[in-house]
Amino acid sequence: ESLAHANIGVVGLAVMGSNLARNLASREGNTVAVFNRSYEKTADLIAEHPEAGFVPAQTYEEFAASLQKPRTAIIMVKAGAATDAVINALVEVFEPGDIIVDGGNAYFPDTIRREKAVRETGINFVGAGISGGEEGALHGPSIMPGGSDESWITLGPILRSIAAIAPEDGEPCVTHVGHDGAGHFVKMVHNGIEYADMQLIAEAYDLIRRGTGKSPAEIADIFAEWNTGELESYLIEITAEVLRQIDASTGKPLVDVILDQAGAKGTGAWTVQTALSLGVPVSGIAEATFARSLSSHPEQRDVAQTLPGPDEEFTVTDGDGFIEDVRRALYASKIVAYSQGFDEIRAGAAEYNWNIDLAAIAKIWRAGCIIRAQFLNRIADAYVENAELPVLMTAPYFVDALTRGQSAWRRVVATAAAAGIPAPAFSSSLAYYDGIRADRLPASLIQGQRDFFGAHTYKRIDRPGTFHTLWSGDR
Ligand code: NAP
Repeated sequence: ESLAHANIGVVGLAVMGSNLARNLASREGNTVAVFNRSYEKTADLIAEHPEAGFVPAQTYEEFAASLQKPRTAIIMVKAGAATDAVINALVEVFEPGDIIVDGGNAYFPDTIRREKAVRETGINFVGAGISGGEEGALHGPSIMPGGSDESWITLGPILRSIAAIAPEDGEPCVTHVGHDGAGHFVKMVHNGIEYADMQLIAEAYDLIRRGTGKSPAEIADIFAEWNTGELESYLIEITAEVLRQIDASTGKPLVDVILDQAGAKGTGAWTVQTALSLGVPVSGIAEATFARSLSSHPEQRDVAQTLPGPDEEFTVTDGDGFIEDVRRALYASKIVAYSQGFDEIRAGAAEYNWNIDLAAIAKIWRAGCIIRAQFLNRIADAYVENAELPVLMTAPYFVDALTRGQSAWRRVVATAAAAGIPAPAFSSSLAYYDGIRADRLPASLIQGQRDFFGAHTYKRIDRPGTFHTLWSGDR
C-alpha cells in the first residue's frame, strides 16, 4: 500500500500518451504512474524527463499497485484491438470504483460496448475524445469525456487541470459530455466539422488562385488578413503558413509540389455514416469527405481529364471584389457546416439518451482543438440563449452574417460553376441553406412517385390522415 502514491496513470507511451503524461505531471498535485506494453518506451520517457517524477511500472500489477484508490488510468494506445487488450488487462488488476479512461480515437459504438462490459465489473469506464494532436496533449487539449457521473467526480478536477484554457474567460476546455459513448461521439463530429472547415478553406484558396492568378504567398497574406476578423481560427492561421512555405529542394511554393491526393483516417466517414443512420443532412461534411475520396483516385482522374470544361476562359475583372465575395461565401458555408454538425450531436443525444449541453460543447472547442475558432463564442451564445434552438443558423447573430453574405455566396457558387472550378462544399452548403429555408419543397412530388409505384401513401396539407391514390397505372 505504501507504493500507492500516484493519483493518475497513463497506459501507452507513444507520442500522445507520453505528452499527456508530461502534461499531467507538470500540474500541481499530480503524481503520474506510467506503463507501456514494451518497457523501452517507459524507460526512455523516464530518462528524458526526470523532472516529471514519473512512477514507472513494468507490469500491469505494478501499475495498479502504484495508484491511489480510486485508481484512475488513461489509455492512449492504438484504437481498436489494442484498446480492448489494455482494458482487459486493467480490469484484471483494478477494483470496483476504479476508473479506466480511453483517450484514444475510438468509434463511439465501441465505447458504448466497452462501457457496458466494464460496468459489470463495478469499474467505471470513460471514453474521452481528446483533440489537439501532439501539441495539445502536451500543452492543453480539448477534452470530451463520456462515462458515469461517479467517475466525473474524480476525473473532473484532473482533466480540468490539463485541458486547454479558453482565452475569453479562462475556462478549461473540458466538460462531462454525457454517459458512455457521448464523448467519443462528440469528438467524432468535431473531426467531421474539421473535414468541412478544411475543404471550405481549400475551395476558397482554389477559387482565388484560379480566379485572380495570385501566388500562394499573396494568398497567404489574404488568409492572414482574414484571420484578424470573423473568420479568426486555427485552421485559417495555419493555412496562411502552409501557403507561405517554400520547398527547399525546388524553390517552389511547397503547396505546388505536394501531391494533390488527400488522406483520411476514417473519422470523417464515421461522422457521415452515423449521420446517414440518424437521418441528419450533414451535407457539408459529406462533401468534404467525398472530396478527399475523389482526390485519391488518380486512375479515374487521369482518364477523366479528357472531359470537356467551359468554353470561355475564366477571368475575374474585379479581383478585390471577388476575394471579398469568397470570404463571405466561406463564412456562410462555415456557418452551415457547424450548424449541421451540431444537428448531428443533437440527434445523437436523442437517439442514445445523452443529455448534451450544446453551448458547453461550443465552449470546449474554443481552445486546444483543431477547429478552435472565434465564432464558437457566437455558437455558445446562441445555445445559451435557447438550448432548444432547432436550427443554429437562425440565431440572430448568424441570420445577420448570412444576410450580409448570401448574395456574395450565390455569386461565388455561380462563378465556380461557370468557370468549371469544383466547389462542392460551397455549393452544397448553399443548396442546404436554400433547402432548409424553402416554403415548399418538391418532396411532395417524391411522395407522389412513392405512392404511385409502391403504394407508400402520403399525407395532405389540408386534412389529417393517410392517403393513397388510385393512379392510372394501377388500373
Ligand atoms: P499509436 O501509434 O496509435 O499507438 C502506439 C501505442 O499503442 C504504443 O504505446 C503501443 O505499445 C501501444 N499498443 C499497441 N498495441 C498494443 C497492445 N495490443 N497492447 C498494449 N499496447 C499496445 O500511438 P499515438 O499516435 O500516440 O496515438 C494514441 C491514441 O491517440 C490513438 O488512439 C490515436 O488514434 C489517438 N490520437 C489522437 C490524436 C489527436 O489529435 N487527438 C493524434 C494522434 C493520435 P508498444 O510501444 O508496446 O508497441
